[in-house]
Amino acid sequence: MNRVVIVGAGQAGCSAALKLRALGFSGEIILIGDEPMAPYQRPPLSKAYLLGKTTAEALQIRPLSLYRDQRIELRLGCRVIRVLPHARRIETSTGSLDYDHLVLSIGARPLRLDPAIGGALGNVFTLRSIADVDLIRPVFSAGSRLLVIGGGYVGLEAAAVAAQSGLDVVLVEMADRILKRVACAETAAYFRALHAQHGVRILESTAVRRLDGNGTVARAHLSDDEVLATDLVIVGIGVKPDIALASEAGLKLGNGIEVDVFGRTSIEGIWAAGDCASFPYAGRRIRLESVPHAIDHAETVAANICGAHEPYVATPWFWSDQFDVKLQIAGLNANYDRVVVRRGGRPGAISHWYFGGDTLLAVDAMNDARSYMIAKRLIAAGITPDPKSVADAAIDPGLLLKAYAVSADRKRVSLAGEV
Ligand SMILES: Cc1cc2nc3c(=O)[nH]c(=O)nc-3n(C[C@H](O)[C@H](O)[C@H](O)COP(=O)(O)OP(=O)(O)OC[C@H]3O[C@@H](n4cnc5c(N)ncnc54)[C@H](O)[C@@H]3O)c2cc1C
Repeated sequence: MNRVVIVGAGQAGCSAALKLRALGFSGEIILIGDEPMAPYQRPPLSKAYLLGKTTAEALQIRPLSLYRDQRIELRLGCRVIRVLPHARRIETSTGSLDYDHLVLSIGARPLRLDPAIGGALGNVFTLRSIADVDLIRPVFSAGSRLLVIGGGYVGLEAAAVAAQSGLDVVLVEMADRILKRVACAETAAYFRALHAQHGVRILESTAVRRLDGNGTVARAHLSDDEVLATDLVIVGIGVKPDIALASEAGLKLGNGIEVDVFGRTSIEGIWAAGDCASFPYAGRRIRLESVPHAIDHAETVAANICGAHEPYVATPWFWSDQFDVKLQIAGLNANYDRVVVRRGGRPGAISHWYFGGDTLLAVDAMNDARSYMIAKRLIAAGITPDPKSVADAAIDPGLLLKAYAVSADRKRVSLAGEV
């Protein structure tokens, strides 16, 4: 037998399966997913799909015919309920299956609001799957009063789409500002202002004490004693990897399923990739929730199943669309101590550059694809520009890359080209 079984037919699972074939793996590939659809892209769920501008079919990552052509067996609507590592076998809702290699790409599940405070009422939704949005859409109509709980990217994107669709939107964030976990105060201020311009009311340092209503949500009681009349609620308070399967199998867990630089879990023959996996990065262990990471991580796992022995080097990047703003993020902003603001060449273009000591860590670029592209290349190369040059809008960031080309061995490069 020469069989790879992949559990979780999302972005990572699909990428692992296709990469195995691309690398010449000739054995059986079985991709198992508990959702009824073939792998699809999640980012449009809180953007074009919620807005009603695209169809579920259009979200499919690859056409069904490709899986057939590539001899990838899709088992959809099938849940894996147990992994028996010693027997190299899994049990699923439709029977058991042996494997040589098992890839866990089971993603993450949205955190829900506690039923004790109204989380189980009707019209209280999470936003992770096509099925979730299909439940939201019938009540997502102009004039409805939407409460978004959570000021992260998913919550803010949902709020933006709702405002564009004519809903009356309030967003509450328990922390003292939106995007607290993922972005600097400058980026948060930019998006707060953008939402305010479009009529979204953002309440920071505000929690929902409880929701009430007669079967369906009708009111939200907030920590500042305000009571909001509410027709629907979208809960965007983060996700958590579902570790029950991995835990029962005896895999090492931390913040998700722990893998080494090659994507191997603590048990021989079992690999993990994507949102569900925590991996070593710059001397610590992190978990990333993004499409580019899911693809790259899964492809590295596929290569290593084929014997490449290739370490995974993450080059984190992410994007978010809100109203007419495209945010592009390069790098990881953990442990920064200052942020340099750079005005872009076009009206409304701006970028925020995060530095930790002498190192450029990350950049948030708003409608500024050029700064983003350059920052991404610099971060990947480990090159830090002079913060003064970054702040000088008169200096074309392209000069930095030119400077880098002639001084690749140096660590500090000025945008003016003086090294
Ligand atoms: C609304 C939304 C907007 C987003 N926007 C962006 C964005 O703009 N940019 C960006 O980079 N990223 C974005 N993301 C994040 C990105 O979509 C995820 O990081 C990516 O989908 C992770 O891929 P994955 O394959 O690891 O997990 P998933 O895509 O979650 O796939 C895992 C699959 O495994 C299935 N599964 C779980 N357990 C089992 C089991 N026991 N048996 C069988 N199947 C199982 C799950 O149901 C799921 O289908 C967004 C996510 C959401 C929800």
